[in-house]
Amino acid sequence: MILPGATLGVVGGGQLGRMFTMEAQRLGFRVVVLDPDRDAPAAQIADAHVARPWSDPTALSAFASQCAAITTEFENVPAEALRALAAHVPVRPSAAAVAPTQDRLDEKALFASLDIAVVPWAPIRSAADLAGAWHAISGPAILKTARMGYDGKGQASVATSEELFAAYEHLGPAPCILERRVTFEREISIMVARGEDGSVVTWPVAENVHVNGILHTTVVPAQVPAALSAAARETAQRIVTALDYVGVMGVECFVVDGALLVNEVAPRPHNSGHWTLDAAVTSQFEQQVRTLTGLPLGNTAPMCAAAMVNLLGDLWAEGEPQWDRALAVTGVRLHLYGKAEPRPGRKMGHLVALAPAADTALMLALKAWQALQE
Ligand code: AMP
Repeated sequence: MILPGATLGVVGGGQLGRMFTMEAQRLGFRVVVLDPDRDAPAAQIADAHVARPWSDPTALSAFASQCAAITTEFENVPAEALRALAAHVPVRPSAAAVAPTQDRLDEKALFASLDIAVVPWAPIRSAADLAGAWHAISGPAILKTARMGYDGKGQASVATSEELFAAYEHLGPAPCILERRVTFEREISIMVARGEDGSVVTWPVAENVHVNGILHTTVVPAQVPAALSAAARETAQRIVTALDYVGVMGVECFVVDGALLVNEVAPRPHNSGHWTLDAAVTSQFEQQVRTLTGLPLGNTAPMCAAAMVNLLGDLWAEGEPQWDRALAVTGVRLHLYGKAEPRPGRKMGHLVALAPAADTALMLALKAWQALQE
């Protein structure tokens, strides 16, 4: 067990690393961040910062030498970098547990091995697979690169085989998957944490709305039948257990004809779990600290209903948003990540509204978000 007072390392200095750092520091740990950006959101508040890329072996050992244990905040940290760090100190989740989630082809194979239902899909390992994949899916589809996609990046909607060939030229040529574009009733996600001793906890199922492939709102608890929540919980538990995963993971799902189809997993805390900082007994970031240090897993119970709205750089089109207007809405909490440059589509912060019921929380969160745009 690693106790408060020790120094923890986080690979990546974005907003997830920043919220991890805040929670770790609240618990009395020191935090070192590895990120080449001198002004990275987590680096601004960390106790120490190694401003070097993870591709630099000297930086990795300099970073590891300061840490009692290391975690990540970004799913695409190369498994080799995690392995190199693990030669010095415990790394959680491990390279082996993260690797299958970094490639959509491997991830689909994992789901198949666990009998987890997914949308119809076909592999495209090279251009030679394009015609066969189109034949297999034959209809509106989404081409996704196997590696390095996030927030709708590395994806293209296609409706004809010509569009598929053109999109592959544009995105690739690299291994991809072609997925049928499904009409879902709703999107849900479940946050799950697994400790070193194999114990697993989940937070209540969240309901998500994406706009242009980027998360827009999350509401908790999701308005779904108890059996669906139980299926989501059980699925998440099976995934982390099969991977021998130690840490926090987000499992994103579609609900189609009342049934659960898993879309993808994120091997780290997830945007749809940000509400836990405000409304759960233990936040996803505190849980990341607990799983990393071997402390007991915390209670995941919600203290009330919550709704989150992401604040993208687009909000800054006319200058700094008028924060006072959002903060005037009752029950609203504001989180800003300290990013200097508000680019369109860039996650700059989020709002969370707390209320006794989910629909009220969503109404308040959207009201605050709209007030920022007036
Ligand atoms: P992903 O990067 O796979 O999480 O995709 C981002 C978002 O695009 C998802 O959360 C959905 O809103 C949408 N999306 C992705 N795949 C599909 C699909 N096969 N059918 C319909 N919508 C999808």
